[in-house]
Amino acid sequence: MSEAQRRQEPKFAVIGAGMSGILAAIKLKEAGYAFQVFEKADEVGGTWRENTYPGIACDVPSHLYSYSFALNPDWSHFSSPGGEIQTYFEDITKRYEVGASIRFGDPVVRCEWLDGRWEVETSAGYRDVFDWVIAATGILHHPSYPDIGGQASFEGALFHSARWDHTVPLDGQRVGVIGTGSTGVQITGALAHRASHYSLFQRTAQWVLPIEQKAYTQDEREAFRTDADLLRKIHDELSIAFNDGFATSVLDGDSEMIQNIETQCRENLETQLPDPELRERLRPNYRAACKRLVISHNFYAGIQHPNAELVTTDIERIEARGVRTTDGRLHELDVLVLATGFHADQFMRPMTIKGRDGRLLDDVWEKRPSAYMSVAVPGFPNFFMMNGPNSPVGNFSLIQTAEMQFAYVMKLVESVRRGDLDVAIPEPEAARRFEEERVEAAKKTVWATGCRSWYLDDRGIPFAWPFPFSRFRAEMAEPKLEDYERAS
Ligand code: NAP
Repeated sequence: MSEAQRRQEPKFAVIGAGMSGILAAIKLKEAGYAFQVFEKADEVGGTWRENTYPGIACDVPSHLYSYSFALNPDWSHFSSPGGEIQTYFEDITKRYEVGASIRFGDPVVRCEWLDGRWEVETSAGYRDVFDWVIAATGILHHPSYPDIGGQASFEGALFHSARWDHTVPLDGQRVGVIGTGSTGVQITGALAHRASHYSLFQRTAQWVLPIEQKAYTQDEREAFRTDADLLRKIHDELSIAFNDGFATSVLDGDSEMIQNIETQCRENLETQLPDPELRERLRPNYRAACKRLVISHNFYAGIQHPNAELVTTDIERIEARGVRTTDGRLHELDVLVLATGFHADQFMRPMTIKGRDGRLLDDVWEKRPSAYMSVAVPGFPNFFMMNGPNSPVGNFSLIQTAEMQFAYVMKLVESVRRGDLDVAIPEPEAARRFEEERVEAAKKTVWATGCRSWYLDDRGIPFAWPFPFSRFRAEMAEPKLEDYERAS
C-alpha cells in the first residue's frame, strides 16, 4: 500500500480491552477502520475483571457509568455491583461484535515508531505494524503492596484486594484488611458481619459521604426498557448534576459545594457513630474530597458490627499468626487483605514505547508522567492515550471522558487524512504551556488542601485535569491544530 493510501486507510492498534478499549473497538468498527485490540488477560473488562472483592460496586451512578450509545435499562441499583458492570462490558463486546478483533492473553511488550509506522510486539513474539496506537491500558492496574515487613512469614492467606483469592473461606474466619480507601470501605461493609472477627487497619481516617443504595424495581426497569427517552433523560440529568456539581466544586477548595459535602460527611459521622471514642478515631483531620471521596451506605454499619474492630495503632510488622501493631499487640488472623491501592503513575508501563528518533517514553516520563491535553506526548506520533496522565480521573465519569478523548483522536485522524498534518504529534512548546497552566490550576483544587492521596504526584501536585467539564468538552470537541506539528 502506498503512503497516500495508508493515510486514507489507516490501521489502528488498541491496547487494552477494558472500558476504554472496548469503546475504541466499537467506534473504529463503526467508522470502518482496520484495527487490532491487544488484551493481556483472557477476558474483557479491565478493572471490573480484576477487582472482585466482596462488596465491589461502582459509586458513580450506574445510569451515568454506561456508554452514552448503549444505555442499560437493567441496572439493578443506583450504584450497581461490580459483577453486573463486568457482565455489561462482556455483553456490549458481544452485541457490537468486536470480540473477534481482540487478541487475548498476550500483553504488548513493545511499541516502536519505525519508518513512519508503529511496530507492536507482544510477549508471545507476535508482531504487526499500525499507523495509530491507542493506549487504553487504564490507570489503577498495578497493585501497590505496602512496605510492611514479614508478609512472606504469614501462615494464613494474604492477598491484594485486586487479586482476590476466591478459594479462601471468609465466613467465620478472622479477617484483617489494611487500608480504608474506597476499596477497604466497600469490603468492610460487605465482610465485617461475615467474619468471626474483623480487623480494619486504618492509617488515615476517611470522610464518608452517605448515599442511598436504591434498588430499581421491576416496574422501573420495565419503564427504562420500553421508554428510551426516559433512560436518556436519567443519564443526561445525572451527567449535568455530576459535571456541573461535583466536578466543578473540586476545582476550588473553598467552593460552597465542597463545604456542603463536608457538612453532609460531618453529619454522617456525628449521627451514625454514637460511640464517641470510635467517632473520634474515624474523624479525618483534612478537608472532605481532598482524598478521593469515599461514598458508602454501609461502612459505618460494618465497622460497628460486634465482630468488627477498628485498629488505628500503627502496624509494626506482619508475623506468622497475624499483624503486630506498635503497641506490642498481635492481631491474630486467618486472612489478611491488602486494600492498599495502586501505582497510579505507571499507565502503559512496563511496556517499552519508543517514539521518533528512538526516544523512550520511560525517559520522557522519568520524573513523572504528563500528557498534552491528557492524550498525547511530544515525540510520539499518532500515539494517543485514553484516561492517561492528566485525565479527569477524580472528577468526571471515566466513560464520558473516554468517549470525548476518543472523538478527539478521530478528529486528528481526519486532519491527517485531509493532509493538514503529516502525523498527529503535539508541539513540545504547546505541551509545556498546557502543563504550566494545568499545574497552576491544580494547586487551587480541593485535592491540594493538605492530605496524602494517590491524586498527588511526586511534588505533591494533583496530576488530574483541574479545569471545568465545559473546558474538557470544548478542548476534546475541536483539537487545536496549531498545537500540532504541521504538514511539511
Ligand atoms: P487507595 O485509595 O489508594 O487507598 C489505599 C489505602 O491503603 C489507604 O487507606 C492507605 O492509607 C492505605 N495504606 C497504603 N499503604 C499502607 C501502609 N503501608 N500501611 C497502612 N495503610 C496503608 O486505594 P483503593 O481503596 O484501592 O482505591 C483506589 C481508587 O480506586 C479509589 O480512589 C477510586 O478512584 C477507585 N475505586 C473506585 C471505586 C468505586 O466505587 N468507583 C471503588 C473502589 C476503588 P493512607 O490513606 O494513610 O495513605
